[in-house]
Amino acid sequence: MHDPDCLFCKIIAGQIPSRKVYEDDEVLAFHDIHPGAPIHFLMLPKKHIPSLAHVQAEDAGLIGRMMALAPKLALEQGCNPYPTGGFRVVVNTGTEGGQEVHHLHLHVMGGPRPWLKG
Ligand code: 5GP
Ligand code: ZN
Repeated sequence: MHDPDCLFCKIIAGQIPSRKVYEDDEVLAFHDIHPGAPIHFLMLPKKHIPSLAHVQAEDAGLIGRMMALAPKLALEQGCNPYPTGGFRVVVNTGTEGGQEVHHLHLHVMGGPRPWLKG
């Protein structure tokens, strides 16, 4: 469950501080330390799953709950409502997929995009 060498497991265990957005028995969400959007937080399972490529059938409920939670947290964090607002959910997977921290996480990014008209 807990990988002592994993940065996000250390955050889950409280060994490294984070700006928490949400927590329950299975899921933690916190602000990204280097935000790539006006609102940018990460959602992760507390269970150490290295990547989306490691997800098993038994994890489907957990992943589904995280996806269902994402829009609620996005609104709470200040994203504007669908359809004129909204947000992006990104799951970088593997080296070529841009994954740097090998503990499955969803990037949730939103907020105004000034280059979009209207
Ligand atoms: P990845 O490239 O693995 O999809 O994304 C990892 C994300 O974790 C990056 O956006 C990075 O800014 C964020 N990150 C890395 N280290 C820390 C940290 O110690 N605290 C927080 N809050 N975010 C981190
Ligand atoms: Zn981990």
